[in-house]
Amino acid sequence: MDQTTIVLYPSPGMGHLISMVELGKLILRHNPNSFKITILTAPPSFNTGTTATYIHHISTTVPSITFHHLPSIPLDLESFPSMESIVFEVLQRSNPHVRHALETISHSSTVSAFIIDFFCNSALPISKLELKIPTYYFFTSGACALALFLYFPILDINTTGNFRDMDTVLDCPGLPGIPSSDMFRPILDRESTDYGKFLNVSIEMPNSDGIIVNTFESLEAGPLKAIREGKCNPGGNTPPVFCVGPLLATESRPDGEKPDCLKWLDSQPCKSVVFLCFGSLGLFSEEQLKEIAVGLEGSGHRFLWVVRSPPVKSDKKRNRFLPPPEPDLDVLLPIGFLDRTRDRGLVVKSWAPQVAVLNHESVGGFVTHCGWNSVLEAVCAGVPMVAWPLYAEQHFNRVVLVEDMKLALRMNEMANGFVVAEEVERRVRELMDSDSEKGNELRKVVKEKSEESKIALREGGSSISALDELIHVWKHDGYLTADSSSR
Ligand code: UDP
Repeated sequence: MDQTTIVLYPSPGMGHLISMVELGKLILRHNPNSFKITILTAPPSFNTGTTATYIHHISTTVPSITFHHLPSIPLDLESFPSMESIVFEVLQRSNPHVRHALETISHSSTVSAFIIDFFCNSALPISKLELKIPTYYFFTSGACALALFLYFPILDINTTGNFRDMDTVLDCPGLPGIPSSDMFRPILDRESTDYGKFLNVSIEMPNSDGIIVNTFESLEAGPLKAIREGKCNPGGNTPPVFCVGPLLATESRPDGEKPDCLKWLDSQPCKSVVFLCFGSLGLFSEEQLKEIAVGLEGSGHRFLWVVRSPPVKSDKKRNRFLPPPEPDLDVLLPIGFLDRTRDRGLVVKSWAPQVAVLNHESVGGFVTHCGWNSVLEAVCAGVPMVAWPLYAEQHFNRVVLVEDMKLALRMNEMANGFVVAEEVERRVRELMDSDSEKGNELRKVVKEKSEESKIALREGGSSISALDELIHVWKHDGYLTADSSSR
């Protein structure tokens, strides 16, 4: 049988790109002869050095994946209220190029499926309705977030005012009660542009041919059941949901060198190090960084901490996809901190190879911003967490991780979001102390989930079975062919 093409369309941001690439790799690994993968990449203004290096690495190491780079879209960043609104706008304006790309690809190969990130929502009518390509969403967060997202139109109708100010608990099928202030950050304010955009995506998503989720069945059985029973979209259609995860970044450094922080971990005792890392976009003020340092020092535990430069106040609308400048640790951290903790701590500037770190036997705990990739990486590595959310859907993820999954302890912030040193110290101790009851409970649960994550990805496991189902459909139902693309 001739190879057909699956086109993937991630939104900007490493977290979104990496998991989409891993989806492509999983499809190819599982079905090496049936499909080619083409990835449409967001306009260059979002492609940082890290993104470009990553894309180059994948292009050279996985020849069955090709990248189609969408052209630049000129945009006045200053005129947009948020990064999310910039992303929506750029992707919307890219639609003529997306259509052209799909038509071009279909001249030489049948397109069996078009898989889009939810930020690429505006491409759905083009691919599905106009070009008749089966179109799926790839949901880069978990099934819990998907349940709430699908239920958002109901919450929109049943509430008035801003989630930020409601001071109530929201009930959504399949989920624990969600404090309204823990709603996804971009939709906290009803009048905001992002609120309308996200609402639109949640209304459109059920019109797709399916939703592929980066999770595994046994991690999120409750919300998956509620979604599949139609309870999250009552009265409407719920497309099939395929859990094919966990899809994790597997790349090592292109030069093959072992990073210094892994060499340092080699010299630490088993499960003794707490790892602190806050995603690709998480930034703290200088004051907060100093407070974390004091808390870490007070905890007495070994640590590996990724420190990034604080946001620049005068530069609020800076393209957050561009990397911040390298941090000056002597200025940002308390005087003498690095010397005093030399024997038990390592501070890494800006970026660490997180998957490798979490899987290192010396790492016993993770203070995380609760980005979904980070959560999955910790679960798979069997590392318990302290949840310190910063943006996107992370506050919601914290509720689920702490209340429902029992995989994390809550880092408590003050009303302005600031976390004091005593709280950092207390949570790190609770997580890492070998006689901590709470820590031991987390370790037990995360170990079970780690084992289940591996079973899901084995032949016959839930994620591979879901992938098989999808592949069966793609092999038999591809709509857009080299002959029919002019329709
Ligand atoms: N990451 C990393 N090193 C860092 C920071 C982040 O390798 O210093 C990776 C992390 O392993 C994860 C991704 O970047 O795969 C971040 O995705 P996540 O969904 O956790 O958060 P986001 O950055 O999208 O907020």
